Amino acid sequence: MDLDLNRQKAFISGSTSGIGYAIAKSLASLGCEVVLNGRTQESVDKALVKLREEVPEPRCSGLVCDFADTSQIDALLKDLGSIDILINNVGIYTDQDFFETSDNSWTEQWEVNVMSGVRLSKTLLPKMLKKDYGRILFISSECAVLTPWNLLAYSVTKTALLGLSKGLSGLTKGSKVTVNTVLPGSTLTDGAQNFLEAVAKKTGQSVEQVEKEFFKTDRPNSLIQRFETVQEIADAAVFLCSPSASAINGTALRVDGGSVGG
Ligand code: NAD
Repeated sequence: MDLDLNRQKAFISGSTSGIGYAIAKSLASLGCEVVLNGRTQESVDKALVKLREEVPEPRCSGLVCDFADTSQIDALLKDLGSIDILINNVGIYTDQDFFETSDNSWTEQWEVNVMSGVRLSKTLLPKMLKKDYGRILFISSECAVLTPWNLLAYSVTKTALLGLSKGLSGLTKGSKVTVNTVLPGSTLTDGAQNFLEAVAKKTGQSVEQVEKEFFKTDRPNSLIQRFETVQEIADAAVFLCSPSASAINGTALRVDGGSVGG
C-alpha cells in the first residue's frame, strides 16, 4: 500500500483541534506538508506547537481564517498557494429545536459547513485538474443520513456535502484527481468528552454510564456502541487522500460504527 505523502501539501480547514487536527497529525507523520487552520492566531500557534511536540520534524504552517467571514476566505485563498490535498473539515452545529432555529443560525451553518468547501474547491480544483493530481475530501457526518430532529439545520448541511462532493467528482472525469466524502459517527473530541463529563456530573453517573446511555437511546443502531476515536476517522481520511486510493472517486465512506443502519 502506498501511503507515501512526502511530496504533497495539504490544507485542512478547522484543524486546531478534534478530527481536523488528528487528520493533520496523521498526514504530517507520513511526510505530508500540512497547513493548519483555525479562527484565531492564538489557536493556530497553539496547535502548531502541539504538532511539533507530537510529530518529529513536521512540515507545517498555519493560516487564520474564519469561514463565517467571506472576506477572510478571499485572503486565505491568496496565501494558500498550490495544494495537493484539500480536507473540508470545518463544521459547526446548533443543538436546537427546529421551531427555535433562527434564519441566522441556518445561514451561519450553511456558510461554514457548505460554502467553505464550495469556495475552497472552486479555486483549488481547477489547479488540481491542471496538474492532473489532487485529493479533495469532505468531512460530512452520520447526521447526513440520520437527520436527528435536534440537529436539523446541521444535518441538512451535511447531506448537502454528499451532493456537492458527488457533483465535484464528476468534474474530475479522466484525471488523477479524486473527490470523496467521509461520514464520521459520534466521535470523542474534546467537545464530546466535556459533554460526557458535564452530564456525568449533573446526573451522578460515571462517564462510561453516560456513554452507554447515549448509544442506547440516541444511536441504537450503532454496532460498536461507543464513541469513535479521532484517530479512527483520521485513518480513513488519510487512506482516501493517499496515492493508494486512486480508484476511489465520488464515494461517501461511512465511518460511523454502523449507526446509520443497513
Ligand atoms: P470541533 O468542534 O472540535 O472544531 C474543530 C476546529 O474547527 C477547531 O479548530 C475550531 O477552531 C474550528 N472552527 C470552528 N468554526 C470555525 C470557523 N468558522 N472557521 C474556521 N475554523 C473553525 O470539530 P470536530 O468535532 O472535530 O468536527 C470536525 C468535523 O467533523 C466537522 O465538520 C463535524 O461536523 C464533523 N463531525 C464531527 C463529529 C463528532 O462527533 N465530533 C461527528 C460527525 C461529523
